[in-house]
Amino acid sequence: MRIKENPGGARYGKTLSGGHYINGKWMGEDASEKFQSLNPSNLDDVVGEFPIGGANEVDAACKAARDAFMKWKNVPAPVRGEVISKVGAVLREQKEMISRLITREIGKPLREARGEVQEAIDTAAFFQSEGRRLYGQTVPSELRNKQLETFRRPLGVCAMITAGNFPCAVPAWKIIPALLCGNTVVWKPSEDAPATAYAFLNAFRQAGLMDGVINVVYGHGPTTGQAVVDAIDRGLINKVSFTGSSQIGMKIGEVCGRNLQVPSLELGGKNPMIVMDDADLGLAVTGAIWSAYGTGGQRCTSLGNLIIHEKVADEFVERFQQEAAKLVIGDPSFNEDITYGPMIAERFMERYLQHHDMAAGTGAKCLLKGERITADNAPAGFCGNAERGLFVTPSLYDGVSIGDDLAQTEVFGPTVNVIRVASFDEAMAAANGTKYGLSSAIYTDNPQLRLRFKNEITAGMSSINNSTTGAEAHLPFGGNGWSGNGTRESGIWVIDAYTKWHCINIDDSGGLQLAQMDVEEVDTGAADSLADLVTSG
Ligand code: NAD
Repeated sequence: MRIKENPGGARYGKTLSGGHYINGKWMGEDASEKFQSLNPSNLDDVVGEFPIGGANEVDAACKAARDAFMKWKNVPAPVRGEVISKVGAVLREQKEMISRLITREIGKPLREARGEVQEAIDTAAFFQSEGRRLYGQTVPSELRNKQLETFRRPLGVCAMITAGNFPCAVPAWKIIPALLCGNTVVWKPSEDAPATAYAFLNAFRQAGLMDGVINVVYGHGPTTGQAVVDAIDRGLINKVSFTGSSQIGMKIGEVCGRNLQVPSLELGGKNPMIVMDDADLGLAVTGAIWSAYGTGGQRCTSLGNLIIHEKVADEFVERFQQEAAKLVIGDPSFNEDITYGPMIAERFMERYLQHHDMAAGTGAKCLLKGERITADNAPAGFCGNAERGLFVTPSLYDGVSIGDDLAQTEVFGPTVNVIRVASFDEAMAAANGTKYGLSSAIYTDNPQLRLRFKNEITAGMSSINNSTTGAEAHLPFGGNGWSGNGTRESGIWVIDAYTKWHCINIDDSGGLQLAQMDVEEVDTGAADSLADLVTSG
């Protein structure tokens, strides 16, 4: 690892020149071909440069992880928990540095970046003590002098492939519990945030994790990510945990399926928020603005469809537009008070600018047409370099129908659709009316409607009188349908994703006892009316 001068972006910091991390050693630092991580607030700022891994690096990482697994799984779980606690301590110590790096590398406001690192710290705190609780069970046997026990066993080599919008929290959700359970890791971080991945990896190195337990291979999806997926077919990987788009998640699911593996797939969302006619509209507008435009709409849990009762829709939309006009967009490295920063990468900006095409030929009315911010059209309060940053203004569509492409497609940008409904039933049909099922919210003070919402919504996560976004380290996170395959991250639930159950029979009877066959019979005394159907033999 080297720190280099950064002439184009010196005021942001220097450039990190890194390498893959395999078996405790750096590899590829001097590779002739490297990819660059650019600051999306200012593309002249080179945050880092990293080599592009292929099958060779992935195979070496898998081999290192396989060898290390034989040692790491035998380290007592409470001792593994102690290592995790040290990881948490390093993250805490370096919280401000890592937060600022996240802000620089993906353009997330500093307050949110700090929250994200805190989520990783909280995850370490939670799993530190899970090492003392990795409970199995004792189970009664149907036979005498026989004991039954269950143990959680680690799976082996876990491949992690992660998206760039949560470059610290999401890897923490995966890597920390996987290691705590005794697995080893090969991680392919997002090409959008390799420097943050380096800083996060560094916490494990500083915590003294043994070589080979965590390995990192950098690169892009179609090359390096694909090489990881190919390694599943070659039997080098026992488990994949993926966070990213539904399309890539489906492909990974297919490969895992033919290898009889259950991946953890945390995918996209088109998250609904219902606003009923009895809702506190001020609260609902604040929640909707944050859900739709916070983080520039670049959260998997961002609000996509705003389903509003027609009795309050006009007033809601008017108040929503007034609040939208107050958003402050800009470069978060130098402005702590911005609402949202740039698009994380050019491909997200292009997709955002193109999403307006979906409105053509529908009844949707564009109330705010988000576009790229330039020096000529910068909105009031904009504080950034419009020419060199990937900044966009927000979008708002009204009169959208749930069947429209606009309502069905994840955009991953600051845009939201208003869908007007006449009843709670219609609202629920719209809320459950996409193929996704990640997050959801309702604003109402009616307890009956809250109860129906809780029971009828098909999303994996729901808020009542709060936004569609947000997670806590000890609550299950995940979705259904196109949002995921039902596995969950965080809390005790994720332990099921990184362990398999092993049951043990201990027979101290001194004979060969057979379950079902040698079980003592209980005489019920009931006459057997069907006894004459067969002879007694
Ligand atoms: P993406 O699927 O393009 O990339 C995610 C990761 O997969 C990256 O590391 C990428 O390099 C890798 N990848 C890409 N193509 C691959 C391939 N063919 N084989 C193997 N790996 C490949 O996702 P993105 O567009 O970068 O991220 C945004 C998406 O992630 C959105 O859909 C968002 O909703 C989703 N997301 C979901 C969650 C969640 O927890 N459900 C959290 C964050 C982001």
